[in-house]
Amino acid sequence: MLNETNFWLTTTPARSISAHPLPAQVDVVVVGAGFSGLSAALTLARGGARVAVLEAQTAGWGASCRNGGMVLTGMKLGVETLIQQYGRERARRMFELSLAAIDTVEDLAREESINCDFERCGHLEVAWKEAHFNGYARAAELMEKEFNHKVSVLARADQYTEIGSQLYHGALLDETSAGVNPARFVSGLADAAIRQGVDLHEQTTVLAIEKQASGFLVRTDRGSLQARQVFVGTSGYTGAATPALRKRIAPIGSYIITTAPLPEEMARRVIPNGRMIFDSKHYLYYFRLTPDRRMMFGGRAAFRPETAASIRESVPIMRQGMVDVFPELRDIPVEYAWGGSLDFAMDMMPHTGRMEGVDYALGYAGHGVAFATHLGMLAGKRLLGQPADDPLEGLPFPVYPLYWGKPWFLPFAGLYYRVLDLIS
Ligand SMILES: Cc1cc2nc3c(=O)[nH]c(=O)nc-3n(C[C@H](O)[C@H](O)[C@H](O)COP(=O)(O)OP(=O)(O)OC[C@H]3O[C@@H](n4cnc5c(N)ncnc54)[C@H](O)[C@@H]3O)c2cc1C
Repeated sequence: MLNETNFWLTTTPARSISAHPLPAQVDVVVVGAGFSGLSAALTLARGGARVAVLEAQTAGWGASCRNGGMVLTGMKLGVETLIQQYGRERARRMFELSLAAIDTVEDLAREESINCDFERCGHLEVAWKEAHFNGYARAAELMEKEFNHKVSVLARADQYTEIGSQLYHGALLDETSAGVNPARFVSGLADAAIRQGVDLHEQTTVLAIEKQASGFLVRTDRGSLQARQVFVGTSGYTGAATPALRKRIAPIGSYIITTAPLPEEMARRVIPNGRMIFDSKHYLYYFRLTPDRRMMFGGRAAFRPETAASIRESVPIMRQGMVDVFPELRDIPVEYAWGGSLDFAMDMMPHTGRMEGVDYALGYAGHGVAFATHLGMLAGKRLLGQPADDPLEGLPFPVYPLYWGKPWFLPFAGLYYRVLDLIS
C-alpha cells in the first residue's frame, strides 16, 4: 500500500514539545529548526549563549527530515567550475570545507550519541551520457592535483561491481562520502540542543525581524521577544519574514519514492556496496538503499515546491525512472512517496554571512545535510565571537530578477534544464 508520507519519519520516534511562553529576551533567536538552525543553536548554547529556536512547524519538519540522507563531498558546482569562478586557492578551501562538513556530521552524531545510521559508505556519480563520462577523468585529476583528494574513475565495463544497471556510461567513485538517516539525525540534534539549554518553540512562526537601537525585536504569531542577534536557517522555506533572503533563494521541488524491502540477493545486485548514487543529469535521479534494504529513489519529478497533488503526480514518474535504471525492480511495490523543497541561490552556491544585521546560512542546492550542519555550526561560532574560517563568507549573493516570493520562473527553469539534458 502506498503511503504519501516520509519513510524516514516512520523510523523516528515522535517527540512532542509542549507549548510554553516565549522568553522576553535572549542572546540569540534562531529562526528554523532544521540542520542549520539546530546546529547553530547547539554551538551557541555550548558557548554559553541564551538561545531561543523558533520553528513554524515542528523541529526537523523542513528539508532536514525529507532528504535522501546523502552526506556528500564537494558542492553542487563541479571542481572545474569552482576553480574557474573562485580561483584555485579559494576553490581548494571550499572543497576542504565540504570534507570538514562531513566530519562535523560524524562528530555530532558520535558526541551526542545520535543513533542515525551514519556510515562512510562512499558515493557514486554515474554518467548519463558518454560525454559526461569523458569529463570524469579530468575531474578526478583536478581533485587529486588541486585538492589532494582521491576518487576513482570506473569505465562502463567496470561499473557493475558498484551498480546493477545497464543505463550508465561509467562512474566516478568517492569513498569519503557517507549516508545517514536524516530524520533521526535532525531529531537527535534537537534533543542535544534542548539538553544544552536551548529553548525550542514549535508552532511559532516568525513574522518580522525589526532592527532596534541595540539588537532586534522578533515578532511571532505567539508574541514578540528581544534578541541581541538573530540567525536565520530557513532554506527552501524562506518566507516573508526575511524579504532580503527570500529574493535570493528559489524553492525547487524534489520528490522521493521508497519501495518495500528488497530481497537480500536483489539488493546486493542493484547496489552491491551500499553507495549513495546520483547521476550526471540536471534533472537528476538520486538513489540509495535504506538500512532495511528498501530502494529510495528521488528526483525532480516537478520543479515546483511540493503539494499533495505534486507528490501524487510524482509517483508514476519516479517509479518509471527507477524501473528504467533497475528493470528488475518492476514488480517491487512502492510504499512511500513524499516531496520537499531544495534551496537554490542563483549562483548555485551556499551562502552565509550577515545581511541587514541578521546572520544566515542557506542555498545548499542539494548538499545541505553536511553543509547546513557545518555552516550552522560556523555561524554559531561567529556569533560567539570565535574564529570561524569560512571561504564562503563575503561571496556576492545575487538577487533573482523580478522575484519577490512567487517563483514564477520555475517552469521556465525546468524546461531550460530539460533541454540542456538533451543537448549537453
Ligand atoms: C527531497 C529532498 C532531498 C534532498 N536530498 C539531499 C541529500 O541526499 N543530501 C544533501 O546533502 N541534501 C539533500 N537535500 C537538501 C537538504 O535536505 C537541505 O539543504 C537541508 O536539510 C537544509 O536544512 P536547513 O536546516 O537549512 O533547512 P530546513 O530543514 O528546510 O529547515 C528550515 C525550517 O525553517 C522553518 N521556517 C521557515 N520560515 C520560518 C518562519 N518564518 N518562522 C519559523 N520557522 C520558519 C521551516 O518550517 C523549516 O522547518 C534534499 C532536500 C530535499 C527537499
